[in-house]
Parts: sequence; C-alpha cells; structure tokens
Amino acid sequence: ATVMLCGWRAAGAKLRWDVSVRGLRSMTTLPEQQQPQEPHRPGPSWMKNSGRERLVVLGSGWAAYRIIRDIDIEKYDLTVVSPRNHFLFTPLLPSTTVGTLEFRGIIEPIRTARSRLNYVQFSCTEIDEEKQQIFCESFYDHGETKIKENIKLRYDKLVIAVGAQSGTFGVEGVEDHCYFLKQLSDARLIRNRILECFERASSPRVSDEKKRQILSFAVVGGGPTSIEFAASLHDFCAKDVVKWYPELYPFVSITVVEAGPKVLSAFEDSLSQYCQKQYKKQNIEIRTNISVKKVNEDSMELSDGSILPFGCGVWSAGNTPVPLLTSLPFEKQGGRLVVDEYLRVGGRTNIFSAGDCCVVKDNVLPPTAQVAEQQGKTIAKNLNSSSISPSVVPPMRRFKFHYRGMFAYTGEFSALLDSPFGTTKGFISWLLYVGTYLTKLVSIRNKIMIPMYWFKSFVFGRDISKF
Ligand SMILES: Cc1cc2nc3c(=O)[nH]c(=O)nc-3n(C[C@H](O)[C@H](O)[C@H](O)COP(=O)(O)OP(=O)(O)OC[C@H]3O[C@@H](n4cnc5c(N)ncnc54)[C@H](O)[C@@H]3O)c2cc1C
Repeated sequence: ATVMLCGWRAAGAKLRWDVSVRGLRSMTTLPEQQQPQEPHRPGPSWMKNSGRERLVVLGSGWAAYRIIRDIDIEKYDLTVVSPRNHFLFTPLLPSTTVGTLEFRGIIEPIRTARSRLNYVQFSCTEIDEEKQQIFCESFYDHGETKIKENIKLRYDKLVIAVGAQSGTFGVEGVEDHCYFLKQLSDARLIRNRILECFERASSPRVSDEKKRQILSFAVVGGGPTSIEFAASLHDFCAKDVVKWYPELYPFVSITVVEAGPKVLSAFEDSLSQYCQKQYKKQNIEIRTNISVKKVNEDSMELSDGSILPFGCGVWSAGNTPVPLLTSLPFEKQGGRLVVDEYLRVGGRTNIFSAGDCCVVKDNVLPPTAQVAEQQGKTIAKNLNSSSISPSVVPPMRRFKFHYRGMFAYTGEFSALLDSPFGTTKGFISWLLYVGTYLTKLVSIRNKIMIPMYWFKSFVFGRDISKF
C-alpha cells in the first residue's frame, strides 16, 4: 500500500509496518519529526472567540460519554478526541459475536450525543502541561492509502478517559493467534472466525480429528466477558448450529481456562458455583487453576503440561494501560493514573481522569462501566459548578461510588445478578438483565432495535452469513 504523510510530520519520516497474521496492525514513524508551528484552536467557527473555557475530553467510552452528555455547553467549548467515533455499550458486546444482536444496535455516534460538540478522530499521544496543549495523531483510511495526520490542541481543562486495552501479560503468541473482545471490530472478527470454522469443518476433505480441532473454542479468562461470550456461543451452537450444521454439532467443544480457583470471582460464591453447574449441563468445560503458557497457531500450551487445541481462541484475561499513560509524568498505580477524591490528576485543578485508566487513591475500584460512568458524572458536576475566576472556589463534590449490582449472562435465558439487595439467578435474573439494559441503552433507536433483534434471533435464529 502506498502511504501519504500529511501535516507537520511529513518531513523525512520513514514508515515501518508491523504485519501479523491478522493483517496490518500498526504503522509507526521512525526518525525525529518536525514540530507543528501553531496549535489548533479546536472547533468549528461558532467556537472561535466564544470566550468560553476550552474543555477537551480524551475518549468516547463510558466515562467520557457521561461527561459529554452532562456538561454545561453554555459554559464550555467541548472538544472530544478519540480514535473511536462512537460510544460502545460493552455489556451487550458478547451477544454480537454470534449474531444474537447486530453491531449497530449497541453503539451511539459521538457526534449525535448532543448539539454544539466538536469531535476529532485522533488519538492523544502526549500532553504538554506547561503550555496546556495536547499532541494527537490519526491514520485516515483513503482507499488503498493511509493518511497520517498530527495536530495540537489547546485546553483550559482536560479530562483523560482513555480506558484500558486487553492485556496479554507477556504470554507468547496471544497477539498473533487469539482474538480480543474489547471493541466492536473485535466482535466482528470473532463472528466471522466462528462462521469460518464451521464452513471449513464442513469441507469433505477435513478429517474427524481436524474437525474436532477446528470446532474447539478456547476462551481464556474467567471474568464476566469470557463467561458471557462462552454462554452466547453455546446458545448459537445449541440453536443454530444444530439446525444448519447438524453433522458438525457433536464435534463442537467450548473450554474456559481460568488461572484462579474459580470463575466470576467478583460475584458471590453461590453464583460462581451456579455458573459452574450450569456450564456443566451445557457441556462447557471450565478449567480453573490453570494458566496459558504459550499460544501456537492452533493450540495452547497450559501450565499443567496439557495442550488445548483450538480453531478459535478468545483472550479476555484482563486489562493493561493504553500507550498514552506510559508517557504521562503523573503518579501511577499498576500503570493507571492516581487521582484524588475529586478525580484530579496529580493534584492539578485543570486535569481530571475517570474510568479504567485511573485509580482513586486509597479506594481501588474494579474497572467497570458503572464506576466509569459515575466518575464521569462527578467530573461533569464539578466542572459545571466551577468558576472561571480563580478567586472564587465553589465547593467540589467528592467522588463516592454507589454499587448498583452486576449481571452475567449464563446462557439459555438465564443470568446471575449480584446486587446490594441480594443475589438471584436463572430466568428471573435474565428478565431483570434484559429490562435493566433496555433502560440503560442510550438512544430511543437502540431501545427499539435491541428487542427486535432479540425477537428475530428467538423466532428465526441467528444469521450465519459470513462477509
Ligand atoms: C465485552 C465487555 C463486557 C463488559 N461488560 C460490563 C458489564 O456488564 N458491566 C460493567 O460495569 N462493565 C462491563 N465491562 C467493563 C466496561 O466496559 C469498562 O469498565 C468501561 O468501558 C470503562 O469505561 P472507560 O470510559 O474508562 O473506557 P472505555 O469505555 O474503554 O473507553 C475508552 C475510550 O478511550 C479512547 N481512547 C483510547 N486511547 C485514546 C487516546 N490515546 N486518545 C484519545 N482517546 C483514546 C477509546 O477509543 C475509547 O473510546 C465490559 C467490558 C467488556 C470489554
């Protein structure tokens, strides 16, 4: 592919392409680059000389989206910087990997989140605190060509809500041979891979032994994401594979590998045990106290010396910080930014952080959507009530987490609910799961689409076309 370099980094930059089995992964510039002369004043014409403070939000996930929706637009010129131009409703992501739900039903475009919002599809790479500006880069698709651009943006107030990325924890072969389940693009890859496995296994040239390997699905990690993915895959096999690939169904196996002593360790013990029992009935094998040592093209080497063959491996074993965080000169804990009770970074009054990329000092919370959303809400409230005059300091709201409970879908219209009011499991929990997520989905469009997709999958089955 040809590469055009635009913007201030054009001069003399050479490119290195990192290619892996999944295709093109990343593109980086090697030598020193020229610096841009003038930082951009962010925003369209109505923002220019508005006199309002410039609020720049990094990210378009749970924390950022809450801020975008709650911020007082009369007070701030809001610019959102994120490589992803949509908000993703992550709890329903596993359902899209098998076609129970369609991809567009669980996303919301950032630009339509509210009026008078300026969005730029860039990743922040550096923060210059002294000059109150950020450096950003982007790779735009232009047919066969990729265009690299860099910009600088000024801010008065900055919110870092860049989330986290899937961690491989140094296990060899994960990046090359496993799929992550974090973004919508990951779910699309997994869905195509699953269908490819069934089409490949149905070839008359494939032996029974090979069929068994191709139709072996290995899921690494025993958290809610892995459990829900395994459950969704089971539903797909039990309802659709049985119908459309009946001769292949006996060859299917699903295995969940967890390094700890139990799956769903954040849930109440009885719920974790219920999940194990339910999976036994569904023929999903759970292997606890076992870690993955190495991933090969079609097998995993496990810590007990055994080999787990697979046709599709999904890795969801935890998070690791995004590259931006490593370059920031602030205090960190486990790679995450340490924030105070007002969610300020390093005691600064104009830099805040929320969500998976930060940790509140002396109050470590799990990296979940509800923590991220509540933190976003606190930041928006504090920013809305803050004064532009340094002599007036209005009281700030401390962040206090309110645990609202958590769900895990365990397949066959059954779910687990661990809440402050107690625990439930089975069909009733599934009804609560459906009801809760329907009320949480942001747009009316998706509130209408999601029940329609559920109905469509239930009545007509899932779509098995691969494209
Ligand atoms: C499959 C799945 C299911 C889940 N289910 C649940 C659930 O049921 N309940 C629950 O509470 N939690 C759940 N979670 C966890 C939850 O999604 C995360 O905790 C939550 O997304 C964290 O929100 P965030 O805003 O910190 O980050 P994210 O939502 O991850 O958003 C980060 C944003 O930052 C952007 N970004 C990254 N780098 C940069 C950069 N350099 N510059 C600018 N922008 C950048 C990204 O593009 C993204 O838009 C689930 C997660 C997954 C993956």
